[in-house]
Amino acid sequence: MEVLQTDTWLEALELKAAYPDAVPIAGGTDLMVELNFDRARPRAILDLTRIPELTEWGPDDGRLRIGAGVTYARLIAELGDRLPGLAMASRTVGSPQIRNRGTVGGNLGTSSPAGDGLPPLFASDADVELASKAGTRRIPVREFITGPKRNCLADDELIAAFHIPAADGPQQFAKIGTRNAMVIAVCSLALSIWPERREATACIGSAGPTPIRCSAAEQFIAGVLDEHDLWSTRSPIADAALVRFGELVERAARPIDDVRGTARYRHHALGVLSRRTLTWAWEAYRCA
Ligand SMILES: Cc1cc2nc3c(=O)[nH]c(=O)nc-3n(C[C@H](O)[C@H](O)[C@H](O)COP(=O)(O)OP(=O)(O)OC[C@H]3O[C@@H](n4cnc5c(N)ncnc54)[C@H](O)[C@@H]3O)c2cc1C
Repeated sequence: MEVLQTDTWLEALELKAAYPDAVPIAGGTDLMVELNFDRARPRAILDLTRIPELTEWGPDDGRLRIGAGVTYARLIAELGDRLPGLAMASRTVGSPQIRNRGTVGGNLGTSSPAGDGLPPLFASDADVELASKAGTRRIPVREFITGPKRNCLADDELIAAFHIPAADGPQQFAKIGTRNAMVIAVCSLALSIWPERREATACIGSAGPTPIRCSAAEQFIAGVLDEHDLWSTRSPIADAALVRFGELVERAARPIDDVRGTARYRHHALGVLSRRTLTWAWEAYRCA
């Protein structure tokens, strides 16, 4: 197997154009498992770990632009204040070793519905920046991921970065697994409160072919918060509204029965997670 290495972004894009079937490697925490178990045997691997641009992040046109090669450990340490939901999700990924190597770019590349980095990106309407020798395009993450482990990356493209708004209110992420760490999510939920635009957004992980935004639940809770002027009074959300929110999140899920859990359990668990995360986030908003 050929290993292509470069330390410049431009050359990486040229290599990808010249070797369209070369498989990029970032942290290798997904790809090396595939190779070790002989589930993949690419003709060439394109090593992206030496490219400085992929490890940079900073403000960009009112959002944060985060290089595809920024690790979970760095997201937690450097961006936990600006992206609390993504940082919470990052803390649940694997072990310290995996968080030191693994990247959100790799999570996007794998496009697993169980990728823990993805629901916070969906809940924040993040965009993915794709680059090729021919240029750059930005697409909403909801369009980037097209199915289980499928995305719309072209053969000559690499993921350069993702663009995401900094939090303007509390964010939460909750994940259910069969143990506390080193576990693939049975299901998960990312929830963000956006006081400036008076919205709450939620995205389900690991209970459908892709992460799923909970539009009906979001509309319902936005209506409740407005109708009772809770944004101004900062009063608690009524129990009945929390229950209804949970039902609507449950209804948005499209889980299957698999080795990690049944569809029925996932529906139930998502109702619980949605009530919990909304309560936690709203309490944080009330006390801010
Ligand atoms: C023990 C263990 C525990 C884990 N626990 C979790 C967990 O709790 N939650 C979770 O979500 N995941 C978990 N994972 C999976 C993995 O760590 C994550 O998916 C991680 O985000 C992958 O990032 P990476 O940089 O290592 O990707 P890599 O393995 O390097 O790449 C993954 C895929 O993305 C592609 N890719 C990478 N970068 C780019 C780029 N810039 N442009 C185009 N394509 C690219 C690769 O070609 C490959 O197809 C675990 C893995 C292991 C081994």
